[in-house]
Amino acid sequence: MNLLNGNEVSQKIKLEIKSKVEAMRAAGKKAPHLAAILVGSDGASMTYVAAKEKDCHEVGFDSTVLRFDANTTEEELIAEVIKINNNPNIDGLIVQLPLPKHINEKRITETISYKKDVDGFHPMNVGMMFKGLKTFLPATPFGIIKLIEHYGIETSGKYCVVIGRSDIVGKPMSALMLQKNCTVTVCHSKTVDLPSYTQKADIVIAALGRPGFLKGDMVKEGAVVIDVGITRVEDATAKSGFRLKGDVDFESVAPKSSFITPVPGGVGPMTRVGLLLNTLEAIELFK
Ligand code: NAP
Repeated sequence: MNLLNGNEVSQKIKLEIKSKVEAMRAAGKKAPHLAAILVGSDGASMTYVAAKEKDCHEVGFDSTVLRFDANTTEEELIAEVIKINNNPNIDGLIVQLPLPKHINEKRITETISYKKDVDGFHPMNVGMMFKGLKTFLPATPFGIIKLIEHYGIETSGKYCVVIGRSDIVGKPMSALMLQKNCTVTVCHSKTVDLPSYTQKADIVIAALGRPGFLKGDMVKEGAVVIDVGITRVEDATAKSGFRLKGDVDFESVAPKSSFITPVPGGVGPMTRVGLLLNTLEAIELFK
């Protein structure tokens, strides 16, 4: 069993990005500029935005966080998004989700210009991704592809099972694995006899948000196992009172796998790098 070390690989990619940005600045060019909109004071959202801001600083990007009160109206937010769409200094824009209940998330994310949509959620970018055209890829699947490539994992002709069909992970992941010449099956909550698929898979990507769901008897010997899940589970021994648990039962699956991601330290840091790569790309893509 080999660990797919997202911490290590993301660090290496960040250093590569940093040197590209230094070269841009040295040549008198503008560095990539990411703007993030944060509405309200949800603890997890504030942590995610702070992490994205820290990542930007680490690689030398410019970063702006626009914080709005939880009572901000949908129209006010739309006006802010349009302002950023029209601001030539800002290359990428993300709106941290979830938004307060009175705001229509779909309307906000679809107001972001697809040219600045570094989360890759805009229908235009989703369509281009499915067609295999160059565009912004959703950060988590993008990061997973980078991890697979880094370790030289063979995908061509392999059977890949993705568990989960969300718009941000499962669906785009299946499209990207198809582009990497895998034969892909997407399983979900209505799938009958899910183990009959995972037991045949060369690559299993678990993205369902059910801690410890994938057990050793559900994977074949030598499988590559990617664990996307991050769920907070109570842990009285942890200082915070909780710990993060993946969708894979690491103890029973790791001994059977050829490669496996740990949680934490696997997909999480690669997701953060996916956003940075998109922001770097934003400086030229669509311009
Ligand atoms: P989501 O929107 O809740 O989607 C979950 C998917 O899993 C759905 O398609 C659902 O099927 C399927 N599912 C649920 N229970 C199932 C079961 N018992 N058997 C088979 N399929 C089942 O979740 P998400 O946003 O994709 O996120 C999934 C997990 O990844 C979460 O733990 C999330 O926190 C984590 N995540 C991690 C990162 C990272 O950077 N590490 C990034 C994004 C998400 P239906 O469609 O039939 O309901």
